[in-house]
Formats: sequence, structure tokens, C-alpha cells
Amino acid sequence: MKTFKSILEFQKHFNTDEKCREFLELQRWNGTPACPCCGSVNVKRFATNNKIFKCKEKECRQKFSVTVGTIYENSKLPLTKWFLATYILSVHSKGISSLQLASWLGITQKTAWHLNHRIRKMLSNNAPELLEGICEIDETYVGGKESNKHKNKRTSKGGIGKKAMVLGAIQREGKVKTKVIPQTNIENITEAVKEFIAPDSIMVTDEHHAYNRVKNLYEHKTINHRQKQYVRKDTILVHTNNIEGYWNILKKQINGIHHFVSPKHLQRYCDESAFRFNNREALQDERFATALANCEGTLQYKTLITK
Ligand SMILES: [Zn+2]
Repeated sequence: MKTFKSILEFQKHFNTDEKCREFLELQRWNGTPACPCCGSVNVKRFATNNKIFKCKEKECRQKFSVTVGTIYENSKLPLTKWFLATYILSVHSKGISSLQLASWLGITQKTAWHLNHRIRKMLSNNAPELLEGICEIDETYVGGKESNKHKNKRTSKGGIGKKAMVLGAIQREGKVKTKVIPQTNIENITEAVKEFIAPDSIMVTDEHHAYNRVKNLYEHKTINHRQKQYVRKDTILVHTNNIEGYWNILKKQINGIHHFVSPKHLQRYCDESAFRFNNREALQDERFATALANCEGTLQYKTLITK
């Protein structure tokens, strides 16, 4: 793939729907178009309308284009705008608000909001493999905008200021995984930790009692934050500085860019942030291509707004 030095260069390169389509075909199919219905590669491209393919399998005969079955299916937005937005979200160090995206792309804020969420979906599940080795685990509150409000205006529950609990695990020198959980009880913590880290890993946490059940599955080291202990020498250096550092990044991205994030959508914002963190060493173009390769599946506006 060509290397882009700026958003402007990117925009110049992907300036027509045809060019975007061509690139998407390459990313999605690796040069061999496959029927989204039956998976067969026995397909032909129409000579009259080269966007459209037809499956040649007798039982299938499905007509399709590269966007069928992807996040782009049935979208009225041109692929040029999709590409630009995906580039911005996967490359820009902090993401972008729907208001800003709307003005950059010349679309309504509602469309930009939906677009932003669909791209976030493409940025999710970017680290499917389990973490291993020394893994730091911690929980934090994210969302709302409580910290910016005067104390007596903060809401303890419900309403605009509601925050949600996020559990996170980070492998030292490795990737991060996060999960929005309703509360930090033993059940939620046990389930999430098992989804995050591989057996035989070393788990480092503070002394929260909710880790008590899952600790039997791992070698468990704790640090006692209540006693103002932050680093302890053991067979390893026991601390949770990496995951706490990541919380700062996540909160800056979410609270700094977005006016308000509801707990319902928080996981997608967390995924967006984790994507950038986990691909921090990749080149901008690689990040874009990685995001694009994850375009399978759809996310309807209706699904987003239903409670
Ligand atoms: Zn087919």
C-alpha cells in the first residue's frame, strides 16, 4: 500500500468511489472475490457494471458487490467519505468528535455520529489472542463528565453524569484489553479476567476482594494501594503502573473529545482507544488497512438508538 504523509495526501489518493472499491476488494478478498452468500469463488464480474459480481454456483446465483455483508452495506455515504473517516479514527491520536467529523466531511452530525460508531465497530476485537506473561489488571470509572462539574452538581447515579465501570488488563510491553462491566463483583471480574489472560500468566492487581475467586487460576501478586504501596519487589516488580497509565490515556480520549458518552456505547469508545494503543507501533497506513480488514458485519442506526 502507498504511504501517506498526511490526511490531504490520503484524500487525494482515495478521491473516487472506484479507487476505494478497488482497495476494499483487495483488502477483503485478497484479489479473489468470494460470494458473501455461499463463500464460493466461482464468481464473475459484470462487464457492464463492474461493481457487481454474480455467483456462478447453481444453487446460489447471488448478485453482490464488495460492500455486501460489510459495515458499508446500504450506506448512502460515498466510500470516499467512509475511507477518510476510517483513516482519521484509526490514525488520529485521540479520535474525533461527531461534531468535528460532520464539519470535515460535510455531513449532518447525526450521520457523523452513526458513522463514528460503525467505524468504532471496525476497530473492535483487534487483539483476539489472550494476554500472557505478566498482566496488570485494574478497574476504573469512565464516561460522564463528573470531574468537570462543581461538586454539588455531580450526580451519584443516573442522568447525564453517569459513569460506568471498566475492567482492563495489560500485558507488560504488550496489548491492552478492556470490558465495560455493570459492577465489580466476583462474578463479573472472574469472567472478564478469564476472557483477558491465558492460564499460567502472572496476574498483578490491587487488593480488591473481587479478584479472590479468579486468583486460583493464575499466579497472583498484589500491591496494597490503601497502604500507599505502589511498587513492591518480589520475584517480579509488583505494580499496576502500566494499566493506570492506560486509564489516563483512555480518559483523556473519551472525556477530552466527546461531550458525553453513555454507558451503553462506552464499550465501543474503549475499543477505539484500545485499537490505537495496541497498534501504536504500526504505521498509519497499516492501522488504516487493519481497520478496513475488519469491515464484516453491520451496525444499524436503529440498534444504536434503542434502549
Ligand atoms: Zn454464492
